[in-house]
Amino acid sequence: MKILVTNDDGIFAQGLWTLVKQLKSIAQVIVVAPDREQSAIGTAVTLRQPLRVQRVRPMVSGIETYSVEGTPTDSVILALGKLVKNKIDLVISGINQGPNLGDDVLISGTVGAALQGYLRGFPALAISVNGADSLYLANAAKLAALLAKKIESNVLPTNIFLNINLPNLPLAKIKGVKITRLASGSHTDTVEDGNNGKWGYYWLVRQKINKNTDEETDIWAIEQGNISITPLHTNLTRKPSPSIPDSLFSDLLRELQQ
Ligand code: MN
Repeated sequence: MKILVTNDDGIFAQGLWTLVKQLKSIAQVIVVAPDREQSAIGTAVTLRQPLRVQRVRPMVSGIETYSVEGTPTDSVILALGKLVKNKIDLVISGINQGPNLGDDVLISGTVGAALQGYLRGFPALAISVNGADSLYLANAAKLAALLAKKIESNVLPTNIFLNINLPNLPLAKIKGVKITRLASGSHTDTVEDGNNGKWGYYWLVRQKINKNTDEETDIWAIEQGNISITPLHTNLTRKPSPSIPDSLFSDLLRELQQ
């Protein structure tokens, strides 16, 4: 089995190499990752400047490793389009140090990178731990390896795009594994004023609000001490829409032509 590993915390992140170390025992691993931290960069693609790629010395021996001067999404596009071509069985993005829950998946670089694998027909996992420290990264690495095995042996389908979050707990304290849906309203972004004496500027500040975290959502599962696995797909269309019925626009063309 051949696994492409990437992340959004940058190529030197502990989460990435904890994952690689675990996967190495079950698969051939190739790392293609951004040369610096790119958290919250979402699905950004670099189209207006060249992309430098460097083969670098891996932090786990024997791993083919490329550092990309670009986004997580760039890294996966480069990997699958050029560096390793399509000779891949699975794309894993992570292990992110910090959660990727609820509607945050839309700005997550970790999830954005996995998306590129999924869009190209590869099974894709985004995996995160709900804590900024590195206490329980090994749990997430073990889980990723288990899921990779299940994909290899066709226990899991190959057309999957899973967003996985683990609570920041020792294995013995984890209650269970829940298949979840995304919560909504996980954060609010506010603007704060700053001034360095010469000029003013703004800070965007994120605050947790966890507004809609009913049972069966990912945030609910994590808060209860469970591992959350959310199957994602890419169709964002809301139709039929309860607030925008077709009839609302039935005269729109006529109004436009008046
Ligand atoms: Mn990150």
